[in-house]
Amino acid sequence: MEKNIFDTVLEEKGLFTDKEALRHSYTPKELPHREQEIEIIRLNLVEALRGQIPSNMILYGVTGAGKTAVTRFICEQLSEKGKELGRTVNPVLVNCRNIDTQYRVLANIGNSLIQNFEEEIPFTGWPTDRVLKTLINRMEKIGGVHVIVLDEIDHLVRKGGDDLLYNLTNINTELNNSRCCVIGISNDLTFTDYLDPRVRSRLGQEDVVFAPYNAKQLGDILKQRVSVSLKKGSLESGVIRLCSALAAQEHGDARRALDLLRVSAEKATHERSEKVSERHVRMAQNQIECDQITPVIATLPFQQKLVLFSVLLNEHQGLQNIATGEVYEMYKQACKHAKTTRLTQRRVTDLISNLDMLGLITAKTVSKGRYGRSKEINSCIPNTIQVGEIMVNADQGMSSVVEAKYKIQTRL
Ligand code: ADP
Ligand code: MG
Repeated sequence: MEKNIFDTVLEEKGLFTDKEALRHSYTPKELPHREQEIEIIRLNLVEALRGQIPSNMILYGVTGAGKTAVTRFICEQLSEKGKELGRTVNPVLVNCRNIDTQYRVLANIGNSLIQNFEEEIPFTGWPTDRVLKTLINRMEKIGGVHVIVLDEIDHLVRKGGDDLLYNLTNINTELNNSRCCVIGISNDLTFTDYLDPRVRSRLGQEDVVFAPYNAKQLGDILKQRVSVSLKKGSLESGVIRLCSALAAQEHGDARRALDLLRVSAEKATHERSEKVSERHVRMAQNQIECDQITPVIATLPFQQKLVLFSVLLNEHQGLQNIATGEVYEMYKQACKHAKTTRLTQRRVTDLISNLDMLGLITAKTVSKGRYGRSKEINSCIPNTIQVGEIMVNADQGMSSVVEAKYKIQTRL
């Protein structure tokens, strides 16, 4: 048979025994350091097994704090126990990042309850009332307790999800033969500020906060995962410590810790190394940062690119805590090189705030006593990232800006 380019790599699993176990979609059977959170949710949801209505809940916490993993795990256990006891308990998980309108959420839940060739609720087209009625009918037909989990609910609320939450938290008044409770999960601690107070009080009967993991806890999570995903003895001694330390700096994100470990092991596998070393972790860190930040920089509108580039020009001259005026001086030069009309300093100040919101820079307002207030601007882009190159690749118009020579500013 002819040689195929995939033959040699197909057989190679490298250092992995099961790569899937390092992916986000994997639900581990054990969740270290979430015992308390699991306990609170368990004590509430056990009501469903008794045929009672559990309280509605809101689970909060930064990304990668284990909210989704914990909820999935508990729901699986709940279904299992329900089956064993012959009680109808029906958890439905909806991710509102993907399914982000009231109509689609209701249709999604409704369709997950389809029995015996019932009509599928279409993607669009029905009046919302009809979708809700159909959902209620199906809940009644199945009976028991329905546990509706709305993950990443903050996405929905920003798009006016009040109505949906109002309807769902009100649904028990329409049910006779079944019960329903709603669990909202949010990455944003302030999301209830946007809710109608009535909805807020009905949804947040019980709040659970998932604190960010510290480095030691992340280390424990990684150790447990290593045993099911990587060959024995494939890590040098400092690797787990470094992955956890880096992820702990990043708001204690377990997802980042697992990504670091997976990408490091991939790097080591590509190099055909016997072991993953700290160097591989550093490489992984750079790659992940670069993968995250590149599209954000590349898709900035042209004027935003100019402003960001002006901040970096100042930094390359060794300046820190750059003032808006200093950015504007560079920006004026950049506009000349780009042959584009320049915006007012006021508009540039707005664009600076936008860059701050995107996490590319920090712009802190400081008081200068009787000289009024001023901004202190610093970039947050790691220096391993070639911003100029990314900008030029995304936008040819930036090449004259990036390649130009700039007059250096001096601070008095
Ligand atoms: P969140 O939903 O809070 O953003 P996730 O539940 O998606 O976070 O967790 C991110 C990743 O970290 C998932 O792959 C998950 O399996 C893993 N993870 C989080 N917490 C734990 C834990 N306590 N034990 C094991 N794995 C965890
Ligand atoms: Mg989640």
